[in-house]
Amino acid sequence: MEEKIKKAAKILCRSKLNLALTGAGISVESGIPDFRSKGGLWERYDISEYGTISAFESHPEKVWKMLAEMDAVVQQAEPNPAHNGLGRLQEMGLLHTIITQNIDNLHQEGGASRVIEYHGNCKTLSCLWCNRQYEREEVAHEIPPQCACGQILKPDVILFGESIPLKGLHESHELASSCGALLVIGTSAQVAPANTIPAVAKRAGAGIIEINLEPTLLTGSLTDVFLQGKAGTLVPALVRVVEGLL
Ligand code: NAD
Repeated sequence: MEEKIKKAAKILCRSKLNLALTGAGISVESGIPDFRSKGGLWERYDISEYGTISAFESHPEKVWKMLAEMDAVVQQAEPNPAHNGLGRLQEMGLLHTIITQNIDNLHQEGGASRVIEYHGNCKTLSCLWCNRQYEREEVAHEIPPQCACGQILKPDVILFGESIPLKGLHESHELASSCGALLVIGTSAQVAPANTIPAVAKRAGAGIIEINLEPTLLTGSLTDVFLQGKAGTLVPALVRVVEGLL
């Protein structure tokens, strides 16, 4: 493992533009379960009944059962050493942008300054009817939270069936097509179009470093260095080696 971490650190130090693509796995050690592992949300809530925009439009009260559970967990979570490690890499000038599929705000709380929230953020909510937007704190006292117009509010996170906000989508793909290294952390790479980012980076000649508890679809194909284990242990270990090389 030590040799692999050294190899990954050298890739980061040599490249001019480094990116990270993160998924639910990076926040598991902060107490937020991922979706697909055992005990994850999709084991208890069926995606088609609770996770789609059409489910929200037809039965917002029902979908709020899942959203309220997710919100309570996210509100209690604190950044872990993996979030802090990526924040440190940004501070050192070795990580241009973090593209995250997570909606938990933990990268920012862990010290990161440039984050693209590919799937939105649960800190704000909007009315699908009149487009008013609210800070979570303004409306969190009632579940489901309601707009002044009487409609049930939706957190500004992307449900299945919704389009990815264009700005983040374009910016992510543009950065990926000119990066020299991509750190892929805690994602099963099953959700499109976020899972196309590693291929875009690879075509640009980037070194792909993957950190995950288990191999993914990327591991045997696009990944150059696979660091198998917990992000909360491996990211700080990688940052320490990078600091030693500088
Ligand atoms: P996923 O649930 O499909 O996969 C998580 C991956 O992380 C798995 O490959 C797993 O092996 C790995 N993993 C779990 N614990 C880990 C650890 N400690 N260290 C390293 N790797 C670990 O997640 P995904 O690919 O991000 O896709 C799920 C979708 O659900 C995303 O769109 C995301 O927006 C959303 N989601 C977000 C959160 C959050 O904001 N924290 C939580 C759950 C789901």
